[in-house]
Amino acid sequence: MPGGRWILTVDLGTTGPKVGLVSTQGELLAWEKEPTRLSLLPDGGAEQDPQEWWEAIRRATHRLLEGIPEARDRIVAIGCTGMWSTLVPVDREGAPLTPAILWMDARGAPEVEEMFGGFPSVAGYRLDRLILWIRLTGGIPGHSGKDSFAHLLYLRRRRPEVYRETWKFLEAKDYLNLRLTGCAAASYDSIALFWLTDNRDIHRIDYHPVLLRAAGVDREKLPDLRKAVEILGPLRPEAARDLDLRPGIPVIVGTPDVQAGAVGSGAVADEAPHLYLGTSSWLTCHVPFRRVDLLRNMTTLPSAIPGRYFIANEQETAGACLQVLGRLLRDPTATAPLPEPLLDALAAQAPPGSGGLLFTPWLYGERTPVEDSALRGGFFSLSLETRREHLVRAVFEGVAYNTRWLLEAVEGFLRHRVDHIRFIGGGARSAIWGQIMADVLNRTIHTVQEPQLAALRGVALLAAVALGELMWTEIPERVPIAATFRPDPANRARYDALFREFLTLYQATRRIYRRLHTLRPLFA
Ligand code: ADP
Repeated sequence: MPGGRWILTVDLGTTGPKVGLVSTQGELLAWEKEPTRLSLLPDGGAEQDPQEWWEAIRRATHRLLEGIPEARDRIVAIGCTGMWSTLVPVDREGAPLTPAILWMDARGAPEVEEMFGGFPSVAGYRLDRLILWIRLTGGIPGHSGKDSFAHLLYLRRRRPEVYRETWKFLEAKDYLNLRLTGCAAASYDSIALFWLTDNRDIHRIDYHPVLLRAAGVDREKLPDLRKAVEILGPLRPEAARDLDLRPGIPVIVGTPDVQAGAVGSGAVADEAPHLYLGTSSWLTCHVPFRRVDLLRNMTTLPSAIPGRYFIANEQETAGACLQVLGRLLRDPTATAPLPEPLLDALAAQAPPGSGGLLFTPWLYGERTPVEDSALRGGFFSLSLETRREHLVRAVFEGVAYNTRWLLEAVEGFLRHRVDHIRFIGGGARSAIWGQIMADVLNRTIHTVQEPQLAALRGVALLAAVALGELMWTEIPERVPIAATFRPDPANRARYDALFREFLTLYQATRRIYRRLHTLRPLFA
């Protein structure tokens, strides 16, 4: 273990928290993970118990520190990140009034329809509200009802007593900060999915009275806003006892996982892109300007870097496609899906282009570059020669074609081409996926070290900047590149041609998916 000063970092994910130790120079020293339970409810609800989060963080921290007795003296800051768009209503004592409402919880959809439906409408939104929201916030709550905004309206409608008793509505990482410090605050970036802040001037973000009035939300129930890269307060004695740490350690405000991953990718310079490939995926960068692109369904939202936005876009299912495939291909007697390393090996056995087999990865619709919840996945052009390895490789390639579609949209948004892309997320652990991405995108792909821990590392880098131990400009060199993949010219013609057919397949099938969508009740 190297000496120096260390940061304790927490990344609260859907499957449980990771707790890590990172040096103030960005070296990842050790980490632990603990599972948490998820309740999926028949009405579209998805909940977790915030107390269970805390217990899991406590266990993971104890295990982490057990073997490293010097850690207690070396930890100079704590930083949290976690799943975004996850709401916790707390009372004056900081106690949660309901289970946390997770990012995948869609129960607020009727509330969004009620508030934003009407005539004349564009893309399902009443025109006057669409214009107001986009002008001030840069976006609008999604129809899916999964934004924190929708969660809040859901509670107000269905649980009026909870709404009344709520002291503050907090995002997940801001709830953890409250437990650690006793301070209720949000960062300019974590609050963005409440869709109640005026984001027009990145240096002066605040709740906007017109939005609050239109939504009927009380300002005093919302947390005050701070920079992600500030110190929020000292670790309070109760939390220090729980975690077996010294009280008084500074806790930084921190940032949600999307923005933390962006920092942890090392791509912090303006317009330096990174690709995240986890269950879902995105391709984004920090930008010094504000821009909204309704056609490509992309916007800019506040990032963790002061004075900078990031491009908000998402593709719904990326690694998820591989997980589904692993389940479908497993032996009927096996309980576990095929493990990813085996899928990687199978993909390597098929030729580039998978013998002309195309896979569309829209298992849960798509968000960018087209918003279309009716789209679904499929294999196209199966033949008598198709083998298992073709199916597997086609899935890797289909996700890459979809990423190229997004890359073209991002380059259109930026108005220039990007050449080097940093690669993070669990999917970036796969060397074959890295090479397929490089070949399909025709760009150089740099996989960062421990790519699945980018958010954990990102919030530590943020803490190091907050402490004054690191400068933003030093971050790219603090995030080592583990592997670089360059496009193979031998695959160029093949992948360019298949990508064109991928786009044609979208045009040719989207109406079929729309009709199938309306027929869904028949298959329920
Ligand atoms: P999340 O936070 O959404 O769970 P992660 O960044 O942990 O995302 O990534 C999880 C995804 O990474 C899963 O879809 C998993 O299938 C994929 N993955 C992990 N390891 C590999 C691998 N070796 N090859 C391909 N995909 C992988």
